[in-house]
Amino acid sequence: MKTRNRITIHGIVQGVGFRPYIHKLVQNNQLAGWICNSNQGVEMEVEGEDSAIHHFIKDLKNNLPPLALIEDIKFERLPWLGYCGFKIKKSQSNHRHPIILIPPDISVCDDCLKELNNPFDPRYRYPFINCTNCGPRFTIIKDIPYDRDKTTMEEFLMCSDCYAEYTDIENRRYHAQPNACPVCGPEVSLYAGMQKIITKNPIGEAQRRLIKGQVGVIKGLGGFHLTCDAGNHLAVSRIREIKQRDEKPFAVMVENSSIIRTFSRLSPFARKYLESIERPIVLLKKKNNNHLSSEIAPGNAYIGVMLPYTPLHFLLLQNNDLILVMTSANFSDEPIIYQNEEAFQKLAHQVDFLLVHNRAIYNRCDDSVIKISFNRPIFIRRSRGYTPYPIVLSEKSRQILAMGPEQKNTVCFTRDRYAFSSQHLGDLNNRDSYEAYQKAIHRIIRIFQFNPEVIACDLHPDYLSTIYAEELSKEKDLPLLKIQHHYAHIASCMVENQLNEKVIGVAFDGTGLGEDGKIWGGEFLVVDLKDFHRVGHLKYQAMPGGDQVIHQPWRMTYSYLYSIFGQEAANLNVKLIERRAPEELQLLNQMVDKKINSPLTSSCGRLFDAVAALIGLRDEVNFEGQAAMELEAICQASYKGHYSYQIEEAIPGWIVNIEEMFHQIIYDMKKHKNIRKIATQFHNTIADFTLFMCVKIREKYNINIVTLSGGVFQNSFLLDQTIRKLEEKDFIVFIHQKMPPNDACISLGQAVIANARIQCANLVEKREDVGKQEYLKRGN
Ligand SMILES: [Zn+2]
Ligand SMILES: [Zn+2]
Repeated sequence: MKTRNRITIHGIVQGVGFRPYIHKLVQNNQLAGWICNSNQGVEMEVEGEDSAIHHFIKDLKNNLPPLALIEDIKFERLPWLGYCGFKIKKSQSNHRHPIILIPPDISVCDDCLKELNNPFDPRYRYPFINCTNCGPRFTIIKDIPYDRDKTTMEEFLMCSDCYAEYTDIENRRYHAQPNACPVCGPEVSLYAGMQKIITKNPIGEAQRRLIKGQVGVIKGLGGFHLTCDAGNHLAVSRIREIKQRDEKPFAVMVENSSIIRTFSRLSPFARKYLESIERPIVLLKKKNNNHLSSEIAPGNAYIGVMLPYTPLHFLLLQNNDLILVMTSANFSDEPIIYQNEEAFQKLAHQVDFLLVHNRAIYNRCDDSVIKISFNRPIFIRRSRGYTPYPIVLSEKSRQILAMGPEQKNTVCFTRDRYAFSSQHLGDLNNRDSYEAYQKAIHRIIRIFQFNPEVIACDLHPDYLSTIYAEELSKEKDLPLLKIQHHYAHIASCMVENQLNEKVIGVAFDGTGLGEDGKIWGGEFLVVDLKDFHRVGHLKYQAMPGGDQVIHQPWRMTYSYLYSIFGQEAANLNVKLIERRAPEELQLLNQMVDKKINSPLTSSCGRLFDAVAALIGLRDEVNFEGQAAMELEAICQASYKGHYSYQIEEAIPGWIVNIEEMFHQIIYDMKKHKNIRKIATQFHNTIADFTLFMCVKIREKYNINIVTLSGGVFQNSFLLDQTIRKLEEKDFIVFIHQKMPPNDACISLGQAVIANARIQCANLVEKREDVGKQEYLKRGN
């Protein structure tokens, strides 16, 4: 029987080769009809034999172009009309500002790779080869609609061959905006200092130089990388020096998975992520005897590995076993360098060569990072390859601009059923990153045509993101909602898992301002999107020296010991104490006693620091979380058991007191117990009191769902132990799916809480205006 079918598709189907894809399917199945772009996707009608339509629909779902994403698909059977041929109709828009979903940048596809390696192809060894299914997107888009003249490709006029491909619906490059070839497209050049090196093969020459041990700078998709041979200790140390006082691990790039096995373990699950079109950095367990420089990831059990994702990377790594350091080109906490001028100005005098090109990057975008923990992916950074894909919300949202926290910042915008979390914007603690942050916000507002109705930010008055939120809210005359840090953590985890009911939220991280003015970070909350209650936390502990403690964990250890042993702490037979001068410890005693620059904290991150320092891993760290990472690295699941702790009744809820644990650890150290065992039992203790607290909360509040969030849960050993224990007691446990558990998820949480509160305020408004004011004030 012959029928007509109307098909409505919502999702990312524009600018991703969807219409040519449909065109081909229609031809294969001998159907007639039409297709056109609509506000949220595409609409089409197809006519033909029932069986052919059935085939068409099956194919449609199964072989989507790699960048396309179908969120929702509707079918409607209609009477036969007798269409002739298949037409692409002009886009209809009944919306003044339709949402345009912009695809992320993805790695070069197999078809393009084949052409790249084919000596008879016009694009043989051309480092900018791309098609509708691959290549740069977000990083080159300046404005919408997504057409070539709104990208950084506008300055390259397509040659007649490229244009013919671009306009041929049967071609893989139909409407591929970055389409280019050696005749008309961008080109690569090699420099030493400011001097251009004359060579026919700049990439091959760069490869030779890397093998010789040189240090270089390479332009990637979203910014520049510093690079060298990862086995060359001298060269790796030079990159450490260039990046300045920083022990953060470097990622490496290799040609294929078999090279990875020479220095780390690789599970099929991890391999799936490594080889995905998003090409994130995947953190893999290092093998003990590897031939890489120890400077790459000092003290770390993991190494960040990625496979090539641009054609340039493929050519650079081709036919050799090179393992290249590929770390973002920046100084300590500054944003990644993304413009040629800046790369020359800041780096030309420090490196041996620069491999650059003339296709400009418009939106800076760092590499994404994923950790595989017991066959679960945990995002550590969600950026290139993933942003700006939205997170789909269960309900329509107002337009909220959420400004994020101070560290690992992202911003988030909501509109309709989408939350757009920005690329990684980094730590907002210096002028450069603050400027980059403001610029990124304005670019995103423009590109996505957002029109915020409300601004949301953190409670902390000194965060630059809060200061900027206040500025923007005045400038645009918009209401500002301030949202508690750990509440936002849990809300983000809820939204990613589409949870609307009340949940138990366990938020463990380093720092976040609490509603009582103290520094929170070891929190047990009862949360729904409209409100939260703090029902438990780690016992408050002084941080002598304030933020100084973050870089000097020994201060935190001493603070714990002083609160447990009083003046006697200074005489304890503990190495960490023996290393300090008595006057130094006296000064700390006074600071704590007189409450001078010693804010109180319930931070779980600080507890990890304190224990790492106590057992002798390190007194000081170079970046936040370093000591905790090293503590995780020495854990061994074969050690069972945990230390003691006490749960004290408080109003409202409970306080976890871990004093007893410190006594026991000191005792174990006196007995020269293996520090691996101590570290493992410490992790088990955290998992155990988490379970104990959740059981108490369940008894009182009758909630069985637990959500885990906060940077501490990047620790796979702890995460796994905690989930296992909770599930054994029949809790339903949710962790982050799409965002990192660290502070990168805060902006998403802020946005959805702000939206829930406004919706509520609007309901209240219908009853009385005063209620609305009161409601919006809460949390301010
Ligand atoms: Zn391609
Ligand atoms: Zn061309």
